Parts: sequence; C-alpha cells; structure tokens
Amino acid sequence: EARLQEAKDSIRDVIDFPKEGIVFKDITTMLKDEKHLATLVETLYEQYKDRGITKVVGLESRGFILGTVLAYKLNAGFVPIRKPGKLPAATYSEKYTLEYGTDEIHIHQDALNEDDVVLLHDDLLATGGTAAASINLLSKCGVNKAFVNFLVELDFLKGRDKLNTEFEVDSLFHF
Ligand code: IMP
Repeated sequence: EARLQEAKDSIRDVIDFPKEGIVFKDITTMLKDEKHLATLVETLYEQYKDRGITKVVGLESRGFILGTVLAYKLNAGFVPIRKPGKLPAATYSEKYTLEYGTDEIHIHQDALNEDDVVLLHDDLLATGGTAAASINLLSKCGVNKAFVNFLVELDFLKGRDKLNTEFEVDSLFHF
C-alpha cells in the first residue's frame, strides 16, 4: 500500500555508523513524520488486535518506542527487556554473541507468566542474536504463546534462521 511504501522510503541509510563498513537503517526520519507514525501504529494494531495479546515486550531501547504505543492500543501491558544493571528486581538473563564479544539482556522474573500471550517487538532484525536471546527469555518466563514483530528486517543477514522458534515472526519492512 502507498502509505506503507512512503513510510519505508523515509527510513534513512547512514553510512559507517556505528562503525566503518556498516550501513545503519535510521528509523528516526520515519518516526518524526506524524503521518508515518500513524501508519505504523494503525497497521500493526490491525495485524495484532485479534490475537489475544496480553503483554507487549519491547527491547531496549528502540523497541520501547512503538512497543508502548502498541501495548496501549491493544489494551495490553508493557514489559521491557533491558541491558545489564538496569532492572531493579530479580531477573532472568540471557547472554548472546556479537561480532566482537558478548552481550546480555534481562527481564524481570515476575513480568510474565504462562497465561500471557506476548507480542515481542523490536525496531530491527539484523543478525538475529538479540531476538533469539529475547525468545529464550520468554521461555524462561514460562510463556507458551507469542508473536514476534520487527519494523525492519535486513533479509540478507538471515537473522530469521537464527530464531529457531514456533512463534510467528513478521516484519513490516524488508531490505
Ligand atoms: P541483531 O542482534 O544483530 O539482530 O541486531 C538487532 C539489534 O541491533 C536491534 O535491537 C536493533 O535495534 C539494533 N540494530 C542493528 N542494526 C541496526 C540498524 O541498521 N538500524 C537500527 N538498529 C539496528
């Protein structure tokens, strides 16, 4: 649809960020436009409104932007997944490998339970390490039913192959 194509076209490529050789997809140029923001929220709301979602889980930090709006629209709660040292109460954690070294993400142990239907949301799927670790965190919380959503998927990095999940995975824009 034309509105979605216009939104997609407003995503900016930033060369050599955060380091040389990387072409960074910058969604701030899309989000700052009120028409595009409305298109994104309305499209995702329509996609997930009848799925019985009780919690939207957003990934620090760009996953918080639309994750919270979607939670509100879906009449669901919002749960953050965060980097180490940010969540104050007892957490489950998951380590994952980056190009150089490892990273770790956390979720509060009491944030979710087996009755929750989760929408896991992040801005972008690249190599899939972050998302795979997030899905493992959902399992540690006892979640049985979840949907995984990204605004942008970089198809050529094949991150989807790393997810290895029965949950439905969908991205609004593909590059
Ligand atoms: P992955 O673990 O390699 O899939 O990287 C995904 C994470 O890195 C997400 O949380 C993204 O926000 C971030 N990320 C990686 N590449 C980009 C990009 O080109 N634009 C925006 N975020 C990115």
